[in-house]
Amino acid sequence: MRSDELIALYEQEGALLRGHFILRSGMHSDRYLQSALLLARPELAARAGEALANLLRPSGASTVLSPALGGIIIGHETARALGARFLFAEREGSDFRLRRGFRIEKGERVAVVEDVVTTGGAALRMVRLAEEAEAEVSAVGTLVDRSGGDARFPIPFHAIARLPIGALSPDRCPLCRAGIPIVKPGSGGSDA
Ligand SMILES: [Zn+2]
Repeated sequence: MRSDELIALYEQEGALLRGHFILRSGMHSDRYLQSALLLARPELAARAGEALANLLRPSGASTVLSPALGGIIIGHETARALGARFLFAEREGSDFRLRRGFRIEKGERVAVVEDVVTTGGAALRMVRLAEEAEAEVSAVGTLVDRSGGDARFPIPFHAIARLPIGALSPDRCPLCRAGIPIVKPGSGGSDA
């Protein structure tokens, strides 16, 4: 799946929203990727997972780790395509934890998968969680990197599409200045 094909699918499913949004980071934005609307179609989720698996296969991961909720569907589909197992970590206050008896073993090869990377905060926390378990974290993968290059990781970072959607600081947001009501887009990407 090419970058433009994925973005066309977001458009087709009404998952690339335009308006005035507040992101989890507190930043504002004129566009929002609501991946849940794309991943609501299992056949598209499977295709996206296969595409991400192709990028991540060289990492040799036997486990995929994703942040809930945003990363669960795509992480699961990617793990299926890789023949890997799938774990997710859940938000607990401002942090993430493995619950439900999930354990990462020492030396296990782990790839982190997130639906959309905005700041990279949630994905980086997954990397740290795996490192704390003394796993070998080999790669980060996402459907869309919207960070414009700001999200950086200490390991290879793969994205099907790179769509720099500027995050605006609230005091310099032209949409605020224009008096456009702001929307908090539900439970968006775990990172958004
Ligand atoms: Zn604003």
